[in-house]
Amino acid sequence: MRENQETEIAQDSAVIDRNEDRRRFLAKFASATFAGLVAPAVTGEARALEVAQAVRVPDVPLYSGLDEEDVLGRMDRDLRRALQKPVDQRNWTMVIDLEKCVGCQGCTIACIQENKLPPGIVYRPVREEVKGTYPNVAKRFTPQPCMQCDDPPCARACKAKAIEKRPDGIVKIDYEKCEALKTCIPACPYQAIGFDAGGFWGDYVSGEPEAYEKLDSLEYGQARSRAAKGAPIDKARKCQFCLHRISSGLLPACVLSCMGRATFFGDQFDPDSLVAQLIRQPNVMRLKEEAGTNPLVYYLEGRMQS
Ligand code: SF4
Ligand code: SF4
Repeated sequence: MRENQETEIAQDSAVIDRNEDRRRFLAKFASATFAGLVAPAVTGEARALEVAQAVRVPDVPLYSGLDEEDVLGRMDRDLRRALQKPVDQRNWTMVIDLEKCVGCQGCTIACIQENKLPPGIVYRPVREEVKGTYPNVAKRFTPQPCMQCDDPPCARACKAKAIEKRPDGIVKIDYEKCEALKTCIPACPYQAIGFDAGGFWGDYVSGEPEAYEKLDSLEYGQARSRAAKGAPIDKARKCQFCLHRISSGLLPACVLSCMGRATFFGDQFDPDSLVAQLIRQPNVMRLKEEAGTNPLVYYLEGRMQS
């Protein structure tokens, strides 16, 4: 018992130390940035120091009862637990912490690579907006994948019935059924669907697909090469939470690649999962709630409650 308590105390201290280290790092980073960028434009070194010291470095939010270093491990365990249940008893859910997203677009690129996306299609754009009024302004970054809506307008708009809501929550486009009618594209309130017009990044270089563009995409668990000119060329395309990866016990590419550790994934039907814990937080919100689509992508705004 005593040993357990000591271990818990040691773990708590380690978390506090890590966050203290991170806070110091951010303070140093902000100072260095402002000293480098603002100082020459203001009135020399002393003024730059004054400005740097005035910069408010936000505390890095702590998740209640959660060792931040173990977030990936925890999501991995949540994923494996969910896969042991029947498919209709899982509800795949994504949570994105807007305080942690730094707008690096690493997730966007990882997704393009994972799904072999052509020019013109981005499954996970990171929208940028400026908040506040000068001089108190800040940029906010909002990664915006397909919301996997519970009541998806895209599916209702598809006359070919090529879009379906799976029992685990993912909204799937059936490339075999898609007739390129494109009616789903304007129906989506989140601009989450693109159309694969058949281009290759290599077209801009050699006129031929680049070697990596000839690799198979494994979307929906089926190996397809766009170089063969078949589907998904001439089909509507969108994020599907990397269904092929999660079915194999792997987290989505955007989750693994996120350097801000801002994206979380799991099964919200499992009350012990990380995502279930996060969506119970009071600072949770979803985009365009008024559209009534009931998205499975949630966002955390502002400070977390501990
Ligand atoms: S976000 Fe758009 S594409 Fe995704 S399920 Fe909802 S309506 Fe369909
Ligand atoms: S990789 Fe993470 S931090 Fe970077 S833009 Fe995507 S969600 Fe934000």
